Amino acid sequence: MIKFAQIFETMKRFSLILFSLVFTLSSFAKEGMWIPSLIKNLVESDMQSMGMKLSAEDLYSFNKSSLKDAIVHFNGGCTAEMISDKGLLLTNHHCGYSLIQSHSSLENDYLTNGFWAKTKEQELKNPNLFARFIVRIDDVTESVLKGVTDAMPEAKRQAIVDSNIKVIGKAAIEGSHYNYIIRPFYYGNQYYMFITETFNDVRLVGAPPSSIGKFGFDTDNWVWPRHTGDFSMFRIYADKDNQPAEISNDNVPYRPKYALPINLNGTQPGDFTMIYGFPGRTSEYLTSYAVDYTINKQNPNRIKMRDISLDIMGHAMAGSDKIRIQYAAKQSRVSNAWKKWIGQNKGLIANDAINSKLALEKRFVANADNSITSYGLKYTKILDKYKALYSELEPFAFSWDMFIEIYYYGPEIIRFPMNMEKLNPEKLKDGDLEKMKETLRISAERYFKNYDLETDKKLLSAMLKQYFSVLDENMRADVYVTIQNDFGGNYEDYAASVFKKSNFTTLEKVNAFLDNYKGTKSFKKIQKDPAYQLTMSLYNNYQSKVRPDLVRLNNDLNLLNRTYMEGLQNLLPKDKKYYPDANSTLRISYGIVDGYKPKDGVVYSPFTTTEGIMAKRDTTKEFTVPERLATLITDKDYGQYADKDGTMHVCFIASNHTTGGNSGSPALNGNGELIGLNFDRTWESTMSDIMFDPTICRNIMVDIRYVLFIVDKYANAGHLVEEMNLVK
Ligand code: GLU
Repeated sequence: MIKFAQIFETMKRFSLILFSLVFTLSSFAKEGMWIPSLIKNLVESDMQSMGMKLSAEDLYSFNKSSLKDAIVHFNGGCTAEMISDKGLLLTNHHCGYSLIQSHSSLENDYLTNGFWAKTKEQELKNPNLFARFIVRIDDVTESVLKGVTDAMPEAKRQAIVDSNIKVIGKAAIEGSHYNYIIRPFYYGNQYYMFITETFNDVRLVGAPPSSIGKFGFDTDNWVWPRHTGDFSMFRIYADKDNQPAEISNDNVPYRPKYALPINLNGTQPGDFTMIYGFPGRTSEYLTSYAVDYTINKQNPNRIKMRDISLDIMGHAMAGSDKIRIQYAAKQSRVSNAWKKWIGQNKGLIANDAINSKLALEKRFVANADNSITSYGLKYTKILDKYKALYSELEPFAFSWDMFIEIYYYGPEIIRFPMNMEKLNPEKLKDGDLEKMKETLRISAERYFKNYDLETDKKLLSAMLKQYFSVLDENMRADVYVTIQNDFGGNYEDYAASVFKKSNFTTLEKVNAFLDNYKGTKSFKKIQKDPAYQLTMSLYNNYQSKVRPDLVRLNNDLNLLNRTYMEGLQNLLPKDKKYYPDANSTLRISYGIVDGYKPKDGVVYSPFTTTEGIMAKRDTTKEFTVPERLATLITDKDYGQYADKDGTMHVCFIASNHTTGGNSGSPALNGNGELIGLNFDRTWESTMSDIMFDPTICRNIMVDIRYVLFIVDKYANAGHLVEEMNLVK
């Protein structure tokens, strides 16, 4: 390791010189998601050469307020940013969607009509929603790896790492109200600590109707040209001392350390842009074996599972307004990744991803020297080891992938009975029974508000059938045998029987059951409930037949990944600047406003305008245009938000490297001013999670001027614009 670290240092220095020569000219410049605290050494000059007027310190500083202080991790899955000194926060409509949905009913249908608080008192509280800032980023590699040796089994290594992380993190936040996150980077070759500050009182301020915020719905999702006003606004509240506090009427709007100025000048093709946010997950350094699995097994099978559920939910939603509202967020959750995977497979196949990975692996081996070992492995042998490992891993990985589809994205009757486990007399403390019953009553009430029994019954029979049909025989749960023996393999009959006999299919049944619940004897009744038995059968099957091997093989895989990642940096330093895969930590990507050529004979321009909204307008739900918006467009009543040429820009694309989690990220110009809101990628780009191609990968943003036009002109909420700092 030590010898290697030296070689690595020399190679790194050499490669840095080489990179700065290659980098300024090459299109590689747009690939990568960079850790803000490392910008100075890695890409500051490149960013400046492309048009950034700021220094790395303006982007990230621990000592003074910087752009990073405006960036928010929104509820752990999306990004948001501060846009006023009164705690006003901007994120995507699709990031606020489940919250908007939770406040909606047939009487107050905010999904359809939008919602705008006219006063602070009207802003809507959201239990469980949080907004998290990053206070500081530290490289803690050395202390996290203290006590770790190369010869150590992976599980032991991980145990030491975990315990070091606890000690380091605890010491770092001692005496403060901060928290910490320590994550591996480069597959555990490095570790970084993020000190965080979290606010739990975050209120809904405004959202456009879905016909604007989700314009084009599934048809346009992941698609360019796009005309979606995908935004919503919230406000962070703090206590009187501006500190995080639980939800309370005593709280006041938070005064952020930094709020983004908003630029109304628009952009030109070629303009510098950057995206600041929390990209969720990428796998840029997968081997050909993993990519082969993704393209040929994982994606097609999970797409098929979701085809089935989307078809069932779609029919139910089209037939009933009530179900449409109940299932809106659930349907989006399923369809979003479904469509992404379809695009990802198209892109990976069109770009011959497997062969290009194979070619890279060939060069890796050709550059490796038999004498070089790291982490106890020879570079020359790594790819053979990968091959053997993947063939062993695949059935378990596949069972896990399918378990996710049925258990977490499938019929809800499968997971709901797990709640009842909380009544297990072995786990429940004496005297806690009544309290627990009350908790379960409350969660049942929430659950059944968005539940349609007939839809779920259909989901159960169709999805379970598909699930068992693709699983290896030795990976199937016991309930499969029950369905074969007692129901002649008829999944509809089985589902009908579960729904008839279970106590967990309606709120009335659950409440009656809880009313009569008396302890051990009643718990036996739960254990006999067919929905509970189904849940446990699937869950225990995963625990016993899949998980142990999956954990063992993933440990082996971790070691290979860590070594391969290090090997790529050492053996092929000229290939690219190796940025760490996304892992839901704060990153910056940068690029330029740029169109692209999706296929022969077609060139996409980087902007869309409101004219396109009218051209797409029809009477179907997906492309409905609210009358008021249509009138504003026809009258060209755009106020100060129009482009220089009088048109109203709606969306634009650029070559920033982004992924899920970057939803809601600010798109910033060279001065760090807000010019747009990131919300999507083009369909051809969805492969960028595995392979980034700078000629076609583009992120999609809504122009900030369209956002403000909707707030001001459409929603008459100009008081919100008055809070902002507009730059012209
Ligand atoms: N629209 C994407 C999603 O909902 C987020 C952004 C992206 O993946 O590029 O997951």
